[in-house]
Amino acid sequence: MKPDSDGEERDVLEIQRTSPDLMCAWHWLTTAETRAAGVNSLFTTLRQSVRPIDSDARAALGRLLRDRACITRGREVVRNAHQYGWSLAYTLAWLSVSGGNSVMPPWVRHQFPQAGELVRNLRDVPCADPACGWCRERHDAARELKRWFGFAEFRPEPLDEYGQPMQQAIVEAAMRGRHSLAILPTGTGKSLCYQIPALSRYDKTGALTVVISPLVALMSDQVTGLEARGITCAAALNGLLSMPERSDVLDRVRLLAEAARRSRRGSVPRGAARAAGDARGAV
Ligand SMILES: [Zn+2]
Repeated sequence: MKPDSDGEERDVLEIQRTSPDLMCAWHWLTTAETRAAGVNSLFTTLRQSVRPIDSDARAALGRLLRDRACITRGREVVRNAHQYGWSLAYTLAWLSVSGGNSVMPPWVRHQFPQAGELVRNLRDVPCADPACGWCRERHDAARELKRWFGFAEFRPEPLDEYGQPMQQAIVEAAMRGRHSLAILPTGTGKSLCYQIPALSRYDKTGALTVVISPLVALMSDQVTGLEARGITCAAALNGLLSMPERSDVLDRVRLLAEAARRSRRGSVPRGAARAAGDARGAV
């Protein structure tokens, strides 16, 4: 954590200026043990303040998680924050930059596996509280459709057996992580059925989604279409790419795949990582 250059020191001081709550939480979370005297001294210097008392640190944590996570899980995490230490410190660091192209480094997930679990619990496990803005907004298929693609509603046809748009039913099932087999006619919006859950999960947790497609032209069209909407976190991998293009895509995919693999400590089938690298049609 010790700044080892002028640039890094400026960055830390900028964080102290723009987000004192983050520095307060980091200070408290990383210095629970007496042997952390050096870290405590560093934060005391940077913050110009001694280690925060528990109530101040928990209040800062509550503010940091507000609007960035489920309020029900957030309350639980704040209540048990003293158990998490560095893991929660890294979780907060990632939450502060999530939504862009930032990925939690594989070594963090490896050394602090609880950090990845905290992100998933805080953002990808919906609660039932109607007052939870995060879950009501970010686990709602229709709102995610509007947020990513600007459409007010799903296609009215075809309908499922309950009279609900089929597209919506498929997206909702995928967003809940349910295994699904969906068969739709051409031109009824199949792409959104996997794009919305994939984008939603990536935005919430940084997770990688691999889409296998037999149609090379369609893959390129979809990535181009997403980029036209300002969505730059998708890439196509196929035999038509030049070597530099292929290398660039693989680097991006490898980083995510490695992070996912380590976060699940080997529970991801080896074939999944292979699919990301070898598939002739991964979007
Ligand atoms: Zn919630």
